[in-house]
This record gives sequence, C-alpha cells and structure tokens, in this order.
Amino acid sequence: MKIDRRSFLSLGIGAAAGTALSPLPWKITDDLSIWTQMWPWTPVPQDGEVSTVSSVCTLCPGGCGISVRKAGERAVKIEGLAGHPVNDGGICILGLSGLQMLYGPTRVRGPLKRVGERGAGQWQAITWEKAIEELAGRLGELRSKGQPQRLAWLCGYDRGTFPALIQRFLTAYGSANFLRPPSVADTYQTTLKLMQGVDALPGFDLESADYVVSFGAGLLDGWGAPVRMFRAHSAWREAGVPLVQVEPRLSNTAAKADRWLPVAPGTEAALALGIAHLLIKEGKVRGEFVNGYTFGYESWSDAQGNLHKGFKQLVLEGYAPEAVAAITGIDTAAIVEVAQRFAAAKRPLALCGRGQGVTPGSLGEVMAVHALNALAGNINRPGGVWALPAPDYIQWDEVRPDDVAAKGLQQGRIDGAGSESYPFARQLTNRLPAVLSGGGDGIEVLLVSEANPLYSLNDTQTVRKAVQKIPLVVSFSSFMDETAAFADLLLPNHVYLERYEDVPAPAGMPRPLIGLAKPVVPPQLDTRHSGDVLLALAKRMGGSLAEALAWESYETCLKETLGEQWDPLVQSGYLFDEGFKPAPWYGAFETPSGKFEFSPTALSAKSGGEGNPVPAYTPAAIEGDAGNFPLLLIPVEQMRLTSGYAGTPPFLMKTVPDTILQGKELLVEINPKSAAALGLSEGSRAMLATPHGEIAVRVHLFEGLLPGVVAMSRGLGHTAYDSYLADKGSNLHALIAPVEDPASGFDTAWGIRAKLSKV
Ligand code: SF4
Repeated sequence: MKIDRRSFLSLGIGAAAGTALSPLPWKITDDLSIWTQMWPWTPVPQDGEVSTVSSVCTLCPGGCGISVRKAGERAVKIEGLAGHPVNDGGICILGLSGLQMLYGPTRVRGPLKRVGERGAGQWQAITWEKAIEELAGRLGELRSKGQPQRLAWLCGYDRGTFPALIQRFLTAYGSANFLRPPSVADTYQTTLKLMQGVDALPGFDLESADYVVSFGAGLLDGWGAPVRMFRAHSAWREAGVPLVQVEPRLSNTAAKADRWLPVAPGTEAALALGIAHLLIKEGKVRGEFVNGYTFGYESWSDAQGNLHKGFKQLVLEGYAPEAVAAITGIDTAAIVEVAQRFAAAKRPLALCGRGQGVTPGSLGEVMAVHALNALAGNINRPGGVWALPAPDYIQWDEVRPDDVAAKGLQQGRIDGAGSESYPFARQLTNRLPAVLSGGGDGIEVLLVSEANPLYSLNDTQTVRKAVQKIPLVVSFSSFMDETAAFADLLLPNHVYLERYEDVPAPAGMPRPLIGLAKPVVPPQLDTRHSGDVLLALAKRMGGSLAEALAWESYETCLKETLGEQWDPLVQSGYLFDEGFKPAPWYGAFETPSGKFEFSPTALSAKSGGEGNPVPAYTPAAIEGDAGNFPLLLIPVEQMRLTSGYAGTPPFLMKTVPDTILQGKELLVEINPKSAAALGLSEGSRAMLATPHGEIAVRVHLFEGLLPGVVAMSRGLGHTAYDSYLADKGSNLHALIAPVEDPASGFDTAWGIRAKLSKV
C-alpha cells in the first residue's frame, strides 16, 4: 500500500495519541519540526543547562502528568510523566504541541483596551494598573446601582482553586452567575444525584472491566482523559476484553472496537433499554443488587394510591428486541448477542457521552446506560461506575455578603439552573443566548476565563448577538480567540506552562487525584495570573470583597488552600489515593428511599407526584422538518482538532487530512448511496443547510457512515487565532442550535436535520 506523507501523519494520530511506547509521536514531531523550520517564529532552543520540570497538562480535562525538558530557561520538549496514574509516560499530540501555545504568535502580549468597533481588532495597550482600575470602576458602578446580579463570570472549568475563587468573588459581590461550558459530566452528575442521591463525580474503573459497551462515547477520539483511554484500550486488547462501539459513523473508536453497531443517530438510549429488556426477560439481572438495593424496578403505589410504572414494566413493554431493531436500525440478532455477552460478563461496563462528551445530551440516555450497569450490579464495584466524592480540600471561611450582595444573590441565576423550573441542573449555559436575547435586565458585565463561547456554544450567530448587547465584555484569554477578539478589555492570563494551578479529579478517574501545574518557565509576555488579577480587583474594590479575598497573591492562596499537601505536590506533581474504595452498596445511596432508584423519587416529585418518572428514559431523537431537511447532520470529533478554549495548534492542523479540509474548503462525509441519490460524487461542491444556517462544502464519500447522515468535523471555521487556524472550513456550531432536554434543561443537540444540495 502506498502511504504518502499526509497519510502517514494521519495514521500516526490514531496510533500515537495514547502511548509513548510507540515511536510514532516522536517521528511526527521530527517530521513536523523539519516542516516548521520555514516559520519565522520557530522556537530555536538555546544552549544551556538541561533540566526537567514535572507538571500537569491542562489543555483538556484529562489532567495528564507531563515532564518538560528545558535548555537554560527555555522549554524545549514536553513528554508524558512516567508513573503518573492517568497517563504513565504517554502523551497525546495536543499535549506534545504545548510549546506552540507557549511560544506561538497567537498569544495576547499584554493588557489591551478596545478602541474601534467591537471585533474590528483595534486595540490600545494599557497598563495592568489602569486595566484593573477601569474594571473595578465599572463593577463598583453596577453595585452602586444595586444590580450586582448583572455580573456574570464564565470560566472553562469549575474544579480547583481558581474557579472556587471566582465563585467566592461573585458571592461577595452579589451575583450567583458563575457559568461554565456544559459537558456530559453534568448529565452524569445529575444522574448520580437522582438515581443514587449523591453529589459525586462519575468515575469509571475501566481497567477492571471485562466487557465494554460504549454508547457513542469516542473512547479513542478524545473522550474523558484521552491518554488514559488509549492505555485502557491497549490493556483490553492484551487481556481479550471486547469493546462494542455504538454510533452511526465508523470513527477511530469504532474502527478499533471488536464490534461496531451503526445505530441511527439519537437512538442510543433505545438500544441500552433493549439490552436491559433481554437481561430482565431472561432473568440475567444481578438479583443481589436489584432485589436488595434498588427502588422503582418493580411498579409501585405511592401514599396517595397513584400507581407508578416500574423500570421493569417500562422496558418489557416498550423495548423488545424487534421494536428496538426498528428504532435503532440494528439487527435483532446483534442486539441479542451483545445482551447475552453483557449478561455473561463478570464486570460489564456501559458508558456514554457522544464523541468527546462536550454535549451534555439527554438525561434519559445517561440514565438508561446507567440503569444497564445497575442491572449488572456494576455500581461502585470493580470494573463498574464509581461515585467519586467531589474534592473537599478547599475549606475557606464562609463569605459574609453585605446588604447589596445579599439582595443580588436573592435574584438567583440568569440561566435558571437550580430554580424550580430546572432543579436538576447546576449549569445551563446553553440557555444564555435565549435568555439574553429575551430583553429585560440581562448581564451588564461578562467576564470570560479559559472559555471561548463565541466559537464553542451552539447557534453562534445568536450567541454573538446576545453578547453584543452586553455593555462590557472582559476576556482573560491568553490567546486572541473569537471571544477575546470581541471583548472590550483583554487581561491575558499566563499559559499553563507559566503558572500554578491545582487540577483535581481528571475526567472519569475513579480514585481521588490532585495534580499541580507549575510554572515551568517564567512568564514570556506581559501577562498576569487571572487569580492575581481577581485578588487585585477585590482589593481595589474594598469592603466585603477585599475582606473575602484577602490573600496577598494567588500562589499564597493556593499554598494555604492545599495546606500540607502543597510540599508533596510541588515535589511529585500529583497526589493519588490509590487505595480508595467507593462506598459499599449498603451505605452508597442517599436517595429518599435509601436505595438505588431506577425511577427517581425526585423526578416523580417534579411532576407533582402524578406523573411517572420513567418518561425520562425516552430516547432523544433528532426532531425537525424532515420534508425540507431530509438528512441528519452529526459532528465528527477527533483528536486532530480541538473545539474548546485551546485552538488547534499548527502541529495538529498539519495532520488534518484532505478528506476533511482541502486548502480552506471543508469536506463533509456522506454515504455513497445517499450521495448518488443527490447527484453528488467525490469532491462535488454542495450547499449544506440546516434550519439555522447554510455553508458551502465539498463532499467526501464515506462508506463508514449510515445512509441519510452527513458528518461534519467540529473544530474548524475559526475567525480568530492565527493564520494556521483562521478562515479554514466552517464552524459546526453555526449550524446547530441548542435543544433543551425536558427533564433537565441540558442541551441535547448532538445532531440536526439538514439538506445537502449540489451547486
Ligand atoms: S490528553 Fe489532554 S491532558 Fe493529556 S496530554 Fe493530551 S491534551 Fe494534555
């Protein structure tokens, strides 16, 4: 087989992303470094004493340990940290590219103030002192108007000291509006709260599972902690543990799985319930757990005499294999076989969170998949789903809000999360554009840290219009991303290799782990740690704010917060509780029934006690006008392209194959049969339209995609960053709008109805 250079790089991504044992990552680095010699800004390593610093990569929620090699004061190479519980020496290609984040041209070099039209790119450099004074002045005005609730702070993550400090600032100021981009972790946390009654993070004991069914989770495409997933997959292969991948497209994960079930988009939950049906019907559920520790499995009557349908009846009535085959498009025999193997396994594990898990998805889907684990008794057991208590080392004195702050806090959250209408959600950032566009007293000051909502929230046009209405937008971004480019004030943070940051509980880890990112090199530009800016802001504003945030510096605050954990963390870079065991069944469930609830009491209570909670299990079909939009558009998520705060660095852009991007033109995938019906062939130019927008594309024929589906890569179509990333392809988020899950309010919009027409 002839492999050209581009194909070689493409193959390298899949094989190299999870392990340092393979020589491919280093070959890629070498190959690309030759290519990058043409760049005017190529970092040239200095001579100097060679040293290494261990730290943590924060470019995704994976939290890998890294070892950064330095020559003198210059970082010259990033490797995975050997022995680290997440990645044990492995690293992904994004992690490898971290030096481009540090030394690349996209960084904001110092504080800037907008002087032209919003988004026109006209800036004036200002001093840090002036910038903080201006922001403190605007925040002071808002408080003097008695409207502190009109301040919102959107941060890319919510675990660790920095986001806790933001929330403390907001509480002392008088706003409940701490916002964060959503993900499937939200849906999992809500599921654990409803079905198990615990405030916990989902942990997956992947390494001990002996049969794995992934309902759309891109386990080898960037889901969870990506390098850990690659390591787990290697271990599964060695131990002969089968992986079944359920998704409409032959992704990298599906290609490497032992079995691929190409399911109709949006019907994954039906398949999970179909497998549950067979387990129940054939008496293969784990009786010890189901009979002794669960509620709502059988139908029951409440105190008012209302009859509630139990999970068993729901599944037996509605999800027989033939019915599920008709819904999902999966062959009945395949459903039966997977169910039999799931039942026969000792430690079967079912998990979900489509693609990389950046979409929260429907509560029903996560509950259906979690119920499958419960039928197998695989809750808080080896190889199963563990409820991991949230880290509790941040123990500060309570904030004492003054009168203005107390009144502001009474107004609640602007996105409605936690309110009577949305009691199960902590974050509903997906509702913001609609809320802000609705008029009224919206947000007056928006602060944004480590997030890029103008690119990454669904329905970007509406998001942009909504943000346009906000009188003051401040970005703390280290990079000139879309949101930074649209801001009024830019207060750039150090990048992760220049600052301290605690990183607790990497995505999906079943045991407690805290990492410490450290300054590997001194700040290269006139940037400041956003934690220090926040403390300076509080000091300047005085009163209860200064009192609540009285630390001298962010480093002092972090050191004090971590207490006796600080020294070991500085020394080794992480603390891991290897002996942690999740709560045993008899003490694990804090629901009203004291048991695992297949039919959560809280959902029943939300419907006034009359309704039945089981409709929450309804699959999240992709609705819409099938007449005008006969196809389904779904995203493709892969490790080549990032779609969150960190833009794809040049190293990765070079690995994007010409089946996705040709020059600046985006290609979308479609099954040859569907293409032929539309008169399209390989490379045809076409218009891709959804009810929310239309873009010009070219067509790539792909047999590994279900007929009737179009697949488009997430992560392209930037208008900001640098010339390596901007103006290439189109942004999927401009074509998709949020779809609210009726049970939780989370955004379920994984796909949308679409039309592809030849031009
Ligand atoms: S998987 Fe995530 S945390 Fe690990 S090296 Fe890659 S980007 Fe960094």
